[in-house]
Amino acid sequence: MKTLLAIFAHPDDESFGIGATLAKYAHEGAAVYYLCGTRGESGTVDPALMRGYTDVGELRSAELECASRELGLAGVRYLGFRDSGMPGSPDNRHPNSLFCASVDAVAERIAGYIQQLNPDVVITHDKFGGYGHPDHIKLHHATLRAYEMLYGVSLADDGAWVAASNAESSVVHRQPKIPRLYVTAFPKGMLKLAVRLLPLVGQNPRQFGRNKDIDLVTMSTWVVPITARVGVSDYVGHKERASACHISQQPVTRQGNLIVRLLFRRAAGWESFSRLYPAVQAGEPIERDLFGV
Ligand SMILES: [Zn+2]
Repeated sequence: MKTLLAIFAHPDDESFGIGATLAKYAHEGAAVYYLCGTRGESGTVDPALMRGYTDVGELRSAELECASRELGLAGVRYLGFRDSGMPGSPDNRHPNSLFCASVDAVAERIAGYIQQLNPDVVITHDKFGGYGHPDHIKLHHATLRAYEMLYGVSLADDGAWVAASNAESSVVHRQPKIPRLYVTAFPKGMLKLAVRLLPLVGQNPRQFGRNKDIDLVTMSTWVVPITARVGVSDYVGHKERASACHISQQPVTRQGNLIVRLLFRRAAGWESFSRLYPAVQAGEPIERDLFGV
């Protein structure tokens, strides 16, 4: 049986980004697991939604359970860290936050789950953390570090191999199979268009999102080469239903979001990835399947 392990920071990262890909592989018979870095404890939530829950982390874990069912996941695991919030927020300084955790400490936990679940494919955040969230960036580096610990090899962010200087000392356990490693990517053309259109409806593209902490202008300059595009048109409905489970994280600004949603809908039949391992060879065609078949 094929196994896929998605490693992201928060309840909702599995659905909003690449939910259709996870649903596709799950419905095609793969065991798809979500390893979630935190329980999204620092997300801002409408107090009316808190009824029946003792804290935000509990509410958002319940939303993730709902999404997991919609996507058909084999299971959800938690790394056990706390949501750090965006840069500069007081949640950064919480002693159990992902922000405060060392890359090695996070990597050790990730390596343990990779050993336990033995995936063929691992997917995580890109080096920019998608939209720059510090938890996303930490998990990216920790996942690469876990590969170094498990397999004695270092990976550069662009997929090139780097000589592992202290490979032997950092090897925890060698496994014969090294899972293919992907980071999420998305076509930047749409984002550049959004940056031009949002001001027309009175939205500042530098202050986007429900917490106005997403800078679409800077994001549109970040380059993550797309090396794989997975056709997911049959699973867009699964993704939408899973995204709807995250009731507390729905956008509050409808008009600005409508533009971005329409742009993304144009590309909804595909989800894009960048492969870090094995390294992409020059002239290699765009992959259509993450399992390399
Ligand atoms: Zn996130």
